Amino acid sequence: MSIIYHPQEYKIKDESMKNFIDHDEIIEILEATRNPTQEQVKTIIQKSLNKQRLSLFDTALLVNANDPTLVAEIKDAAKTLKQNIYGKRIVLFAPLYIGNLCINNCTYCGFKAENTAQKRTTLTSDDLKQEVTALEDAGHKRLILVYGEHPKYNAHFIAESVQTVYSVKHKNGEIRRVNINAAPLDIDGFRIVQEAGIGTYQIFQETYHRETYLKVHKSGLKRDYDWRITGLDRAMEGGIDDLGIGALLGLYDWRYEIMGLIRHVNHFEAVFNVGPHTISFPRIQDASGIEMDPRWIVSDEDFTKLVAILRLAVPYTGLILTAREPAHIRDEVLQYGVSQIDGGTNIEMRGYSKDDEQQNIDKEQFEIKDKRSLNEIMEELVDNGFIPSFCTACYRLNRTGEHFMEFSVPGFIKRFCQPNAILTLAEYLEDYAPQKTKTKGYQLIEKELEAYEDIHFKEKLIKRLEKIKKGKRDLYF
Ligand code: SAM
Ligand code: SF4
Repeated sequence: MSIIYHPQEYKIKDESMKNFIDHDEIIEILEATRNPTQEQVKTIIQKSLNKQRLSLFDTALLVNANDPTLVAEIKDAAKTLKQNIYGKRIVLFAPLYIGNLCINNCTYCGFKAENTAQKRTTLTSDDLKQEVTALEDAGHKRLILVYGEHPKYNAHFIAESVQTVYSVKHKNGEIRRVNINAAPLDIDGFRIVQEAGIGTYQIFQETYHRETYLKVHKSGLKRDYDWRITGLDRAMEGGIDDLGIGALLGLYDWRYEIMGLIRHVNHFEAVFNVGPHTISFPRIQDASGIEMDPRWIVSDEDFTKLVAILRLAVPYTGLILTAREPAHIRDEVLQYGVSQIDGGTNIEMRGYSKDDEQQNIDKEQFEIKDKRSLNEIMEELVDNGFIPSFCTACYRLNRTGEHFMEFSVPGFIKRFCQPNAILTLAEYLEDYAPQKTKTKGYQLIEKELEAYEDIHFKEKLIKRLEKIKKGKRDLYF
């Protein structure tokens, strides 16, 4: 078995790619947009509501808008855009940690090599099957597998763990989409992982600010900013066209990171004609043995504002929010355009199959704030009129770039996303929900059905719901 792990051999083919994050450009734009007028901000909000793409300059004007009434308008506009474009669906997933061996020393992470307090483990195939069984028994259909950076976790290892996850079927449970969050590979490595049938490959740049990047990545392969920033380009070349980008907020000024994220999106659109599927923007959480620079801690106020800005700036890219955030922040930003959240999360190694409520910071990467079970989250989403979705139809029917289609193909959400969300919700209600959630869930489904104007389509949907009640599974449009 060959080990695909030789970044030093990788040469960037096109030198201009190396510089798509232009520090001077970001600083100049942030300077030039200080103190925007009310009129400027309102014009940009309108531009976004008219479904026109915002430029980096437009985004910076929103970033620099500090007047509370303007911030409230930005948030209201994000709410409107979310309702108009995405409807009420929220996609649910769970993270699953495969191994916490790591050769890097990222100052912010509990898994860093020099943290000797961390208990190191890699799931065996049997461990993995047990974890997946527990996740299926809770109702999950979509997972993201997470790995430290280590020669052991090469492309073949990752591909094998993906295949193991897909092979586990328990009762009516199965995992229908496996996403990956792991260190960047070379092109051949990405090809191997792609062939295992992954959904999204996610790599966070952590900070787009090169100087800070070097400060917080003290040693190991991850210290190479250029290797990391070009990682997802290599993934594309290796055949993975479903990508997730992200910045870890709290390492440097969030304003700079938002500009970096938007530039990264623009880069994909310019080079590959398709943007990333998702953006993540985790805030640093407390972790075993970490160092943090208090200057860059992102307040709740700034955090909720930046989510709304991202929604307005890149309306067709999925926004992911994780259980790092407490329930009240999650509930607020769900309204501004977050489209995916995790539920019933446990990031402790072997955490899902062990029924242990207590978090142990020495066995996990960082502390999570939202410890609600998947069912508690499902019930709350339903109470708030959201339709929780486990849909994986687009990916399985090769309808890639689904967020793009959601945005650009008229009626896409009505024809596909909304009914598929309803069907996967019904599966959950039949197989996993306690009676109270089941009653509420079906009430929501009834309400949604009433709103369908296309009688022919509504009948089709009702027929499929009846089949689900009779035991049929995995139905989608
Ligand atoms: N080891 C791989 C890497 O670094 O890309 C992938 C997995 S890493 C475990 C996943 C992500 O967790 C990192 O990209 C980082 O953004 C995030 N992370 C690390 N430490 C964190 C902390 N203390 N709080 C919140 N997120 C953190
Ligand atoms: Fe290792 Fe990733 Fe943690 Fe860095 S963030 S120490 S690479 S697991």
